[in-house]
Parts: sequence; structure tokens; C-alpha cells
Amino acid sequence: MNKKISLLRIVDLVFILLFILFIAYMAIDLSNITKTLKETQKEKMNLLLNYQKDVYSSLLYFGFDYELKDNLVSLVKKNPNITGVRLYSPRFDFSYPKNPKGQFVKADLVYKNKSIGELFLYYTDRQLINNFFKKYFHRFFIYIVFILPLTLLLWFYIRKKIKSLNKLAKKVEKINFKKTSMLEKIDDYLEIVLISNAINKLLLQVNSFYLSQKNIIKKLVKYKKQLQNAQKVAKMASWEWDCENKKFESLFKKFAGFKSMEEILPLISDDESFVNRLENICKDCGSFEIIKKAGDVYLKIDAQCLNQGNKKIVIGSLLDITDEIKKQERIEFLAYHDTLTGVANRMFLKEELQCLINFSKRHHSKFALLYLDLDNFKMINDSYGHETGDRVLISVTQRLKNTIRASDILARIGGDEFVIVLTDIKSKEDVSVVAKKILEALKEPVIIENKKFNLSFSIGIAIYPVDSNDIETLFKYADIAMYKAKKEGKNRYEFINEKLKEEIKVQYEISNQIKEGIEKGEFELYFQPQIDVLTNTVYGAEGLIRWNHPKKGLIGPNVFIPISETGDLIYLIDEYVIEEAFKTIKKWSNDPLLSHLKLAVNISAKEFKKNTFIPKLKNLLEKYKIDPEKLEIEITESVSMQNVTYTIKTLEEIKKLGFSISVDDFGTGYSSLNYLKMIPFDIIKIDRSFIKDILNDNDDYLITKMIIEVSKILNKQNIAEGVETPDVLKKIKELGCRYVQGYYFSKPLNYQSFYEFVKKYGKS
Ligand code: C2E
Ligand code: CA
Ligand code: CA
Repeated sequence: MNKKISLLRIVDLVFILLFILFIAYMAIDLSNITKTLKETQKEKMNLLLNYQKDVYSSLLYFGFDYELKDNLVSLVKKNPNITGVRLYSPRFDFSYPKNPKGQFVKADLVYKNKSIGELFLYYTDRQLINNFFKKYFHRFFIYIVFILPLTLLLWFYIRKKIKSLNKLAKKVEKINFKKTSMLEKIDDYLEIVLISNAINKLLLQVNSFYLSQKNIIKKLVKYKKQLQNAQKVAKMASWEWDCENKKFESLFKKFAGFKSMEEILPLISDDESFVNRLENICKDCGSFEIIKKAGDVYLKIDAQCLNQGNKKIVIGSLLDITDEIKKQERIEFLAYHDTLTGVANRMFLKEELQCLINFSKRHHSKFALLYLDLDNFKMINDSYGHETGDRVLISVTQRLKNTIRASDILARIGGDEFVIVLTDIKSKEDVSVVAKKILEALKEPVIIENKKFNLSFSIGIAIYPVDSNDIETLFKYADIAMYKAKKEGKNRYEFINEKLKEEIKVQYEISNQIKEGIEKGEFELYFQPQIDVLTNTVYGAEGLIRWNHPKKGLIGPNVFIPISETGDLIYLIDEYVIEEAFKTIKKWSNDPLLSHLKLAVNISAKEFKKNTFIPKLKNLLEKYKIDPEKLEIEITESVSMQNVTYTIKTLEEIKKLGFSISVDDFGTGYSSLNYLKMIPFDIIKIDRSFIKDILNDNDDYLITKMIIEVSKILNKQNIAEGVETPDVLKKIKELGCRYVQGYYFSKPLNYQSFYEFVKKYGKS
């Protein structure tokens, strides 16, 4: 603005110029007028002179000097404009007054064409001023009084307005949008008022726009903060890459310990630099997603190229997935490791074994699979609690680790079951050495909280590929060898051998036959009567399963139940027996001779532990609508003691349904009186082994006596099984046992024979 010529200067210049022009014009005008007036005066004098010239010439010529002079003097005197005269003649020189000065006109005095003298007429312009004023006053009056002051006024007015404009400009310049101040009044001049109003209007608009912008910006700042917080929570950050300038913009201040993308770059560029990748996707505007480790942090990096106008940028995100990866690693570790001891679990072991088999195939090498079972560990758990049991297991694991090489595998595959795989073995003897070392390792007792635990292993061993080249079979063989070691007295190791393999083969075949037999309906429930010795009546029966083998005839449960229990076959048997029991009670209920009888059935440990057992009972009750009190569920003492909490819960549910419960083979388990008190049962079945020798073996007698007494204290019934002779029956009766079952009364009978028995017994 300063460099440009201001309007004020221009106006000043124009007016000064106008002023000069005006003065010049006035001066020229004045000089013209005076010039004209002077000439007019001169002409007038000339005219006067020429008019008098002839008179004076004559007077001079004829020598009327006095008249001439007088005439001349009176001419001067009469005429105020004439200041003097002078006459030259050869006779005299006359002037009036003496030495007249100033302007003059001259005329030659001639008589008869002969110059006789010269006459000078002096005059003044005195009249000129009067004439001038008379003639031109109005003109100068207009100049001086009107035009000049008007021009000056206009000049100052315009100056003032222009100054107001400048003032306005300065005010506008000082406007602060943040303060809602309006432009104050500067001038009443319409244009300025209009401009001020317009500016004020604009100010109002700008102000409201500013306020809305301020709000928007406030919101944006809030959203940005929220976004940043959300990103922080989500462990996320974003960045941009300019495809042209090849520059990053890190849209985060701090992320996972990094301040910018430039800090992350060197850590995530390995085989291919990250910038290279970006340049590649810039070419065809593609995208990528990678997971990289930057220091201790795992980052998931997404990059997506976008066209922005005629520019390409890559927008990207960073996700800190360290926790997820660690969790994943932990999950993987947990999936493959035993949580208690940290060694491999069954799954890991199987995968390792598969790899080992592939390796051994290629290198024609052997490995040994050792199946280890801690002897009597259950007792430690039961007696000292799980916590102590766990600590024992950890300690045992440590000892096992110390006995094997780093290349060998140690896994825990069950509560007290371990597997050791000895890799690259040369002979059976090598394996025996390690097995002995393992047994040796447990010679020293494990000490937990000042308690000494004497532990030992039963170890079963199978060798790849000598015994089998498939994992499942190797496992099975090692397991069977381990059972053999247990059977042979524990704290020892056994290799799988041909005889054992043969037994397994037979078992497998039998299993198949049992399955077929069940499908073909070759199984049948027999009934062994139970007698109430107080009333000497048939009180009920125990249902016992039999197999009518088409070739081998009637087969007892001791042959097929143990085999069935090793697999899932037992469920089929239990299912058959339970439904058969419901059917039988239903049938009996319609026969007056049998309707009062109770039927007891044996439930395998596996079935009892299955969560479908109670629903199954409910369904059958619904289906057959029998009196549930007539059905007695027999579970063995050892089963009931395995998981007391579960047993109590399940038995309570059974009782709630209305069924009776008896504890079978009582005396052979390790029931503590405490547990016995808590278990909701109705009848204790005294095991046959005590009854058998009750007369000869004082211990058995005392145990039986004690069981019967305890039952009375607990308000439970007793039934003695395996009563074969009248003497035994007498003894049992003496001890106060009311119910009896045994060959003395009857062997288990089929449905029809049992019917006959009840019929006959009632009559006898
Ligand atoms: P348990 O439950 O203790 O059944 C009693 C066994 O003793 C029966 O043998 C029975 O025939 C036999 N017994 C009864 N009185 C005498 C006697 O005076 N002297 C002798 N020496 N033995 C007598 P069984 O029927 O061979 O059953 C053997 C075992 O098989 C049963 O023992 C039971 O544990 C199981 N079992 C039998 N039937 C079933 C069944 O239906 N389901 C299930 N899960 N197991 C069954
Ligand atoms: Ca039984
Ligand atoms: Ca029994």
C-alpha cells in the first residue's frame, strides 16, 4: 500500500494543479485585459493626437506659438488621462510640464507636405484601473469569491472523505475475529456508512462462521483425542506414506514404545525392506498385510494404497498383537504341555512320535516307548490331598528328567502316567539300562513338607519298529507290558513279548465276538434269589448277566466283563442290563407272585461315571413307569470311593428318583467311616471273600461282624453274598444280618427257573 500512490495524494495533486491552472488562467486573463485596455488607451490618444494634429500644425506653421502652447497646456489640463505634451520644432522645444515621462504617442506636424515638428502626447493608464473594475469586476468576483473557495472546499471535503476511508482501512485492519467487536461509526458519509455496515454484516457472518468452525474444531480435537484413546486401547496406530515424496507421516506420538515409523522401519525390514514393499504397492495401487516382530513387540501391519486426486498415498495401520501372540504361544504351549509339570502332553507326544517314526524310517533307527505308571499314587492323593499329590508329581518329573538325555522325550499323559521315548537305541539292553536307572531314581523317597513318600514305577516297554511300526499299537503294547509289570509286583519293568501280544489278540477277538453277541441277542439276565432270613421269604434278586454262546454254551461275566471294561463295550452291556431290569420289574409288577420283589443290578464304574447315566434312568422310568423302589442300583465300594464328591451328588440324584442303592463288594475297598457316613446308600453287600471263610478265618469273621455293626449304627441294611452252607448261614444270622444270597439257596437262574424258585420257596 505504501508503494502505491494513495488517492489522497492524487486528489492533492489534482487540486494543486487545478489551483495553479486557475491562478495561471486568472493571470493570463488579467494580462490580456490590461493589454487590451492599454492598446485601447493608446489608440484613443492616437486618435486625439491625429484629430488635433492639423490644428497644431497650422498654429505652428503660422507662428501662433502662444495659442499653440496654451492650447497644449489646456489639453493636458482638460484631459486627466494626458500627463504631458512635448513639441519639437526647429524654433522651439516646448514641454508641459517640464520633462514629462511615461508612455506617449507621437505625431509629425506637417504642413503642405513639409514636416515642421514633432508632437509627443504623454498619457497615463489611470483610467485603466477604473475601466477595468467597471468592466471586469464581476468576472474576478466570480473567480475569487465562488470558484476558488468552492474548489478549496471541494478539495478539503474530498480529502476528509478519503481520510475517513483510510481510517476505515486501518480499523478494518485491526479487526480481531476472536473478539466479537463491531466497527464503530467513523463518518456519516453514505458510502463509508454503507461500507461500515457491510463490513459489520460480514463481521457478524465471519463471527458466527468462526464460532461454528471453533465448535467443529473443538469436536474434531475431541474426536481426534477419542480416536487416539480408542487406538491406544486397541493398541493401534496409523501412518501414511506419500508415494511421490516417499515420506512417512506417523499419525501417533507414541506407540508400543516407538515415536515414529522411522524408528520401526529398521526393525521390520529383513528379507525385503518395508519401503520396497510400499513402493511396490504404489505402482499398481495394491495393499498388503504382514506380521513383524519389532524388538519385543509383534506388529500386524496393514497397508492400502489410495488414489487421492492425481496423487497416490498409502494409508497404514499398526496393531500391537504382542499379547495375542504371547497368549497364542501360551495356548500352544498349554495345548502341547502338561500344565502341572511343564513336560510334553499326550498331543505333543503323538506329534513328536510321528516325526520320530518318519526320521527312524529314513535312518533305519530304533526307539523305545516306555509307559510308566506311578505305583500306589492314588493312595497319596486320597490320603494327603491333591496339593501334596501335585508336588510329588513335580518332584518325580524332575527325577525323570535327570535320568534321560536331552534328545529323549518325556511326557505326562495322565494323572500318574508318564511316557519316555528313548531315541536312537541300539539294543534292548540299552533300554533296560535306562529303565533300571529310572527305578533307581525313585529309590530315595520324595520328601514333601517333611513327609517321606516311597514311590516306584511300573514300566512297560515297546520298541519301534521291532514290536510295531504304528504309534497306536506301540502305545497299546507298552501299556499292556506296564500292566504286566504291575501284576508281577510293581517297581519293575517289562518288555512287551509274543505271549502278551497273543493275549491281546485273543482279547481283541473276544471283544469282537461280545459285540456281535450283544447285537444278536445272545446275552441274557439271570436272577439269583435274595432271601429275607427273618421271614424266610424271597425278598428279591440280583440280576447277573450271562452269555449264551452258540458254540461255547453259557459264559459267565468274569470272562467277558473285564475285557469289555477295557473299551467301550461295557456301555453296551450296561445299557442292555439296565433296560432289561426295567422290563423285568414291569413284568413282575403284573404277577401277584413276584410283584413285591426287588431287583438289584450291577452298574459298571464306567457307566456310573458317565454323565448320561442319570438322564438314562429318568427316561426309562418315564418309559416303563415302574415303582422305582423296586430297582436297586449296585455300585462297588471301590467305585464309590474314587471321587466321593461326584459319588455323593450322583447317588443323591438316584435316590431323588426313588431308586435304592447298595454298595457292592463291601470290605474290599478303603472306605473310611467318614465317607461312608456321607454316602446316601441303603444296603451294604458284604463281599463273598469274607463270608466264604467266616467260620475258619477269625479276621474275616471280625470284619463281617464289624460291617454289620457299623451298618446298624448308620441305620443301613446288610446283605451277605456267597452263602454256600447252612453253617455259614447260621453264623450270619447270629451276627444279625437279615438278607442273604448264595448257592445255599440258589445259583443265578434264568427268568423261568427263577419264577419256579419263587413259587416253590413260598410253598416250602
Ligand atoms: P458280583 O456283583 O459280586 O456278583 C456276585 C457273583 O458271585 C456272581 O457271579 C454270582 O454268581 C456269584 N455267587 C453268588 N453266590 C455265590 C456262592 O454262594 N458261591 C460262589 N462261589 N459264587 C456265588 P457272576 O454272576 O459270575 O458275576 C461275577 C461278577 O461279574 C459280578 O460280581 C459282577 O461284578 C459282574 N457282573 C455280573 N453281572 C453283571 C452285570 O449284569 N453287569 C455288570 N456290569 N457286571 C456284572
Ligand atoms: Ca453285585
Ligand atoms: Ca459282590
